[in-house]
Amino acid sequence: MSTSAPAGSGTALDALPLREDLRGRTPYGAPQLDVPVRLNTNENSYDVPEPVALAVVEAVAREVRHLNRYPDREFTALRAALAAYLGHELVADQVWAGNGSNEVLQQLLQAFGGPGRTALGFTPAYSMHPIISTGTGTAWIDGKRGSAEGAFDLDAADVAEQVRRQDPDVVFLCSPNNPTGTALTLDVVEAAYDATGHAVVVVDEAYAEFARTGTPSALTLLPGRPRLIVTRTMSKAFALAGARVGYLAADAAVCDALRLVRLPYHLSSLTQAAALAALAHAPALLATVEAIREQRDRVVAELPALSDAEPLRPVPSDANFVLFGGLRDERATWQALLDEGVLVRDVGIPGHLRVTAGTPDETTAFLQALARVCADPVPHPPTPHPDDQSNPEQP
Ligand code: PMP
Repeated sequence: MSTSAPAGSGTALDALPLREDLRGRTPYGAPQLDVPVRLNTNENSYDVPEPVALAVVEAVAREVRHLNRYPDREFTALRAALAAYLGHELVADQVWAGNGSNEVLQQLLQAFGGPGRTALGFTPAYSMHPIISTGTGTAWIDGKRGSAEGAFDLDAADVAEQVRRQDPDVVFLCSPNNPTGTALTLDVVEAAYDATGHAVVVVDEAYAEFARTGTPSALTLLPGRPRLIVTRTMSKAFALAGARVGYLAADAAVCDALRLVRLPYHLSSLTQAAALAALAHAPALLATVEAIREQRDRVVAELPALSDAEPLRPVPSDANFVLFGGLRDERATWQALLDEGVLVRDVGIPGHLRVTAGTPDETTAFLQALARVCADPVPHPPTPHPDDQSNPEQP
């Protein structure tokens, strides 16, 4: 028995028998700060509308009496409702859900990655892809995107070449891509799929509902591609980040594989009831999508002329956020915006910050604060800030 520090007294992490591959790693940790304008985690800024909130409360209340029983382990009704929402002739057997799409991604890596296996993604992309890979013992391979300095595009031939060369077990594509915002063309997905005969190709479509009109979903590619998986979430367009519901569509065999690794009853009956009630009101929840797109397009349109001192370069976006470059010191700008009560995200790309498209008032607050900050840059030595902790994997 250990005779060192008593339980709870703050033993150093180094003193614990932690897995070697986790030593020195930093956890995900986007700051959760109580400031007036929070535009750093791509949440939906709009509250759940009152009629939907009431329907969710009623559905959850009906379940409470039966909490003595385990939930439906197969969450059958929820899978059917998600399949109906997605369309594309998908059926319940082809849909799987978890506590946020992060959990679904983790289950995918548990089933198809793991020790001795590799996952390839094209950075900058969603910072949790490498973190979840590492957590499941899957070696992460940092693929590259961008045909030129400062560009974040990804073309089919380049992706195919990287997939062939690295020969991973899991390929991550993210469309629209976080943090850059742009959606992929489907030839990129097809090229990744065709470049490997054995890997699963995961297309993370967390922001699909915000894509510009005419942007096709990888769901259209599912027929005949048993190793293709499309993940989605209710955290963004559906404004249900707090409920933790993410899901995927794929060949039914993929769902069978996930049954091998999921914890029994992983989706609580309260979560299932809340998600089902929300899906029954999908049009009311998704009504904010158009307003958010408008604010996104407004940010893209207004940023270039915002500052003479620092000409800002927004990246065209299909998501509910905008990445913009052209900053002399993104850390100083991040801090100065925070001092103005506006929290945005430093994603670790030099000269860039990412801002979520919020309500019109939030967007105005952001644009005005940024104009003031750019007009009055404070000379200073670069200082580290809390976001340094949150993006250890970002370039
Ligand atoms: N994928 C991407 C690209 C994301 O940006 C996020 C959340 N920021 C997620 C997945 C995970 O979202 P959730 O677990 O809330 O579904």
